[in-house]
Amino acid sequence: MNIYFLIIFTLLIGDYLLGLTVETANLRALRLDVPEEFADVYDREKYKKSQQYLRENTFFELASSGVFLIITLVFISAGGFNVLDRFARAFKAGEIITGLIFAGTLIALSQVLGIFVAAYHTFVIEEKYGFNRTTVRTFVADFFKKMLLTMFLGGIIFALILWFFGYAGKIAWLYCWVATVLFELFVVFISPVVIMPLFNKFTPLEAGELKNKIEEYARKERFAMQGVYILDGSRRSSKSNAFFAGFGKSRRIALYDTLVKGHTVDELVSILAHEMGHYKKRHILKQIAISIVTTGFMFYLMSLFLNNRLLFDAFKMEHLSIYAGLFFFSFLFTPLQTIISLFSHAFSRKCEYQADAYAARTYGRPQAMIDALKKLSVNNLSNLTPHPWKVFFSYTHPPVLERIRAIKNIHS
Ligand SMILES: [Zn+2]
Repeated sequence: MNIYFLIIFTLLIGDYLLGLTVETANLRALRLDVPEEFADVYDREKYKKSQQYLRENTFFELASSGVFLIITLVFISAGGFNVLDRFARAFKAGEIITGLIFAGTLIALSQVLGIFVAAYHTFVIEEKYGFNRTTVRTFVADFFKKMLLTMFLGGIIFALILWFFGYAGKIAWLYCWVATVLFELFVVFISPVVIMPLFNKFTPLEAGELKNKIEEYARKERFAMQGVYILDGSRRSSKSNAFFAGFGKSRRIALYDTLVKGHTVDELVSILAHEMGHYKKRHILKQIAISIVTTGFMFYLMSLFLNNRLLFDAFKMEHLSIYAGLFFFSFLFTPLQTIISLFSHAFSRKCEYQADAYAARTYGRPQAMIDALKKLSVNNLSNLTPHPWKVFFSYTHPPVLERIRAIKNIHS
């Protein structure tokens, strides 16, 4: 038995079983009583419905990832990667083009599987709980736009990586690291102007109380930005959100139209104050720094495994290649990725408390911040009482009750 084959199978199955354990504990932690903080916004019936929503999503997620796991295991065991490699090599192109065909086909196949999952989630589950606003036409258009973008942007960076590993020798990982980081920063930079408008319409916020209060607050906090925009989120879902896009003075604030509709001016300014808090406390910079360091670490490790014959044997490959090695390495990297994400999630949760405190202090209306958090949780049917394991493994934000209690403690 090939040792890498054994390791990869153990990792894939172990990862699924870990998820299953955490999700089961999470569902078992549900209680029928409405938490005291939410007694004024949830009645028993609506609270029960929010828990049913969580149950249904969890079952569906476990079922679809179980099917995906089985397909992956069968694909590996049956030598599917080698069949794909023969197909890519049949074009008799150079290493980079062959690699692009190999990766492109693999990603297209997984996207096709993914579209069934996404369609069921949108048109069955989200529809049933009243969230869905997407038409089939928008859904299909989104799918093709995302696919083309992934192929185009992913193709550029994948070709660059293949080129470096093919020609730059021992320090190729270093070139890959620098190129990937620069490319990612570039994409983030152009995204609000070039990529996001492909999916949503951004309309400048009309003059009025909300705009005045946002601008007044931003001036007081010396927060430079390019403008405040309303985004037509209601085209797809009734769920709501707000975010910042871009860097420095070209930063834009985007508010979902669904958010503006359901919140008071003070609540909206509190939400933006929270987002600005992330910038003021340098959370964004720190998170970018963490991701730069882990990317470098990943490329270095990757460079150690690329020409490992034993690893290629595990996938029943006839030929060694850099492009296939990148995918095989990603299987080995999964547990490390999980460990890294534990740290970055924990850091992110800490940042959320700091941004809440920043918003409550600088805007001076902690109750508005609390009301906004409550409304967001109710509108999105969020889980109010997640199991601590679930929080530990996958929450980038602290559970809402803990955030509310922390905000209350700031002023008492
Ligand atoms: Zn935040």
